[in-house]
Amino acid sequence: MKQLNFVIENATGLHARPAKVFVTTAKQYKADIRILYGSKKVNAKSLIAVLGLGVEHGGEILVEVDGADEDMAAEALQTAVAAGLGEGEHIPAPSKAEPVASAKPSVNGHPVGQTIPNGLRGVGAAPGLAIGPVFQLRQTAVTITETFAGVEAEQARLGVALADGEVQLVALRDQMQAQTPEEAAIFDVHRELLTDEDLLEAVQQKIQAQQSAAKAWQATIQERASMMASLDDPLLAARAADIRDVGNRILKLLAGEDTAGIQWPDHPVVVTAHDLTPSDTATLDPQKVLGFATAVGGPTAHSAIIARALGLPAVVSAGAGLLEIGDGTAVILDGTTGIIQVNPDEGAQTAAKSSQAAAKQQELEAKSQAGAPAITQDNHRIEIAANIGGVKDAISANESGAEAVGLLRTEFLFLGRATPPSEEEQFEVYRQIAEAMAGKPVVVRTLDIGGDKPLPYVQVPPEDNPFLGERGLRLCLNRPELLREQLRAILRAASFGSLRIMFPMVADLSEWHAAKAMVDEIRAELNAPAVEVGIMIEIPSAALMADKFAQEVDFFSVGTNDLTQYTLAMDRMHPTLAGKSDGLHPAVLRLIDTTVRAAHAAGKWVGVCGALGADPQAVPILLGLGVDELSVSVPSIALVKAQVRTLTFAAAQQLAAQALGCGTAGEVRSLMGN
Ligand code: PEP
Ligand code: MG
Repeated sequence: MKQLNFVIENATGLHARPAKVFVTTAKQYKADIRILYGSKKVNAKSLIAVLGLGVEHGGEILVEVDGADEDMAAEALQTAVAAGLGEGEHIPAPSKAEPVASAKPSVNGHPVGQTIPNGLRGVGAAPGLAIGPVFQLRQTAVTITETFAGVEAEQARLGVALADGEVQLVALRDQMQAQTPEEAAIFDVHRELLTDEDLLEAVQQKIQAQQSAAKAWQATIQERASMMASLDDPLLAARAADIRDVGNRILKLLAGEDTAGIQWPDHPVVVTAHDLTPSDTATLDPQKVLGFATAVGGPTAHSAIIARALGLPAVVSAGAGLLEIGDGTAVILDGTTGIIQVNPDEGAQTAAKSSQAAAKQQELEAKSQAGAPAITQDNHRIEIAANIGGVKDAISANESGAEAVGLLRTEFLFLGRATPPSEEEQFEVYRQIAEAMAGKPVVVRTLDIGGDKPLPYVQVPPEDNPFLGERGLRLCLNRPELLREQLRAILRAASFGSLRIMFPMVADLSEWHAAKAMVDEIRAELNAPAVEVGIMIEIPSAALMADKFAQEVDFFSVGTNDLTQYTLAMDRMHPTLAGKSDGLHPAVLRLIDTTVRAAHAAGKWVGVCGALGADPQAVPILLGLGVDELSVSVPSIALVKAQVRTLTFAAAQQLAAQALGCGTAGEVRSLMGN
């Protein structure tokens, strides 16, 4: 066993980022690693435990490393601490933290979370109108009546609840998978929390001390979650919400409460809540819920993304006033503008109902024409494809009028498991997707993960800026075996349909060369059919170098989510920047324009597969810029096709030219009448 002494020089001690870095480093080794601080000794591989130590600036810790790879582990920990645990060598001196006045979030210049005449203004998080009476979801505390039934009996109860919780989480994950694979991963994080060694150890200790499993669990979750929430790190604070969410799930199971035990009114309602957990949102029944509004939260919160996937209108960040609206009060919630009208008069209700009915009618008409192509009034055709995450999506995309799959996010196959899917397993899924699309083209994007979405079997050293770190193709090129297996599976499945290969996060021609060489080599080995191979344009460097890439690739697909993030230097998940991080910014449009011109000059096609492609205000502009394909979520296919049919290409081109000349995203949106 090795013992190491460290003085933690970081300003906030072993909290937040330094703790994350320490734990991530420890987890890379098999050795048993413990941290001793004061009278406490914890598992260094449990973030919850390490945070719970509360090591302050200048605190001395003793680290015990025991196991076959203890030398390597000790060295890595020493290096990590010497390098400042993710805070660099110049660790800021501790200072009394001054509260930073947080900028009031605003959207298009309007402050949100505000009371306005006859209502509230929040942030529109999922489009659509919800008209109906309010029903506030109050987080009720679970009542525990069980008394201690003996250590073994309590341990057995805990075991059953954890196993049942795992079953529920897998079911929720699978249910979400089809709608939003990225969000589905949140339930895998919850499953991971259920196996946190420290958490379970603490519960066991309480059970040994004669507490019932329910009481022991409840107390441990409360301790861990409040400790986490008190940390000044939004990422860890979000983990506190996850701990509470999953903690409550198990507690309800232990207390024998029905997890769906809310007493719903017998009529449909507009749900209001302080906030909704991913579990709450995923289990909202669209038969009972017309839409929802939360007092806090951002449009990129998990609940908002799930709402969009479920087609539920939603407003977030509506402010504390939301919770003062009594149950049964009539409201009109507009998930596009973020406005909630309280006690609207007859006229407003009638107007909202008729615009809701018109939208419904439009949707029905669009659906009835979903199988027809999207051709403008002056005969210009644009392909409408689907973004999918798995086999089920492929089946519904094909039934919903998709002319192709423009983006298959293969991450769904890799997330939430301890080992990578085998070549055989991948082959089987790609084959089924190719067959489900019945010969229509399917663009298979190779694995796009990174430091922010870690996979247990892909070790990435701690990164200060995961979005600027080893992501997408970069990560795969550093682990060629992972990419090789995936390419083999895709190329083998290619003979069952029309598969194409697309590489994500390409920044540089050399990356493309390395990846393309791998495709050529494997294709020769397998004697597989030729497939189109293209790249995503989602890093500004790739857009600016599009003329060079266009000489070599078969196609481009613009990932506007990341292209916007990297062009504007605004985190795509940032709640307060959400209103500003707009893909219709002229800077982003100019990069798309550059890409399209370069591609067409070389006779290649360009798709758009980011969320912008389904934004009704963006569709005419993208069409006008000459984009050849819009790849959108399955529910948007019919609507985008219908919108294209109302346009003329000539007018769209004029609009696009005007948009390129605008100064801000707001100006572009005003051009479009908003
Ligand atoms: C994008 O960045 O626009 C994109 C389609 O990829 P993802 O959202 O999966 O990063
Ligand atoms: Mg992307």
